[in-house]
Amino acid sequence: MSEFPKDRARGFRPAFHFKNVLDIPASLFAEHGIKGVVLDVDNTITRWELTSVPDEIMAWMDALKERGFKLAFLSNGLSAKLKEVEAQTGIRIVPGKKPFLSSFARARDLLECVDAEIAIVGDQCVTDIWPANRMGWLSILVEPISTSDFLGTQFYRWLERIFGMRTPAR
Ligand SMILES: [Mg+2]
Repeated sequence: MSEFPKDRARGFRPAFHFKNVLDIPASLFAEHGIKGVVLDVDNTITRWELTSVPDEIMAWMDALKERGFKLAFLSNGLSAKLKEVEAQTGIRIVPGKKPFLSSFARARDLLECVDAEIAIVGDQCVTDIWPANRMGWLSILVEPISTSDFLGTQFYRWLERIFGMRTPAR
């Protein structure tokens, strides 16, 4: 519907789709007026079954920080893992009940940005992309870096396939 801002009209579909976070250039954020980047954890910056962030993804996040972007994690993951990731990266984690919007609002407040200045990077259409679109954030989908995941996530992936959600909205 034309009265809705473009991001909200995307539904489950991302604005952009990359294979991996490493393929997302910092210039994409800059071009869209982004100041804060919210990152999913499981299967976006870590393999679901591991607690450590790979060196190349650490370097990608450090490069964003050096360019002045503020980063935060928003994750439904297990708290023991999230504490380890927070300790390794020094990036604050907002524990989430995604796709509910309350945790997205908490991440926005942590970043001290307005919605139009925030991008999300995540590997799931239902829990990452859809709510981010509703917030009016720039939504960027990546492919999961491991095939292991929570049972509920596997159900969402089945929905993504059936409804063809993983194609960027035009
Ligand atoms: Mg994920």
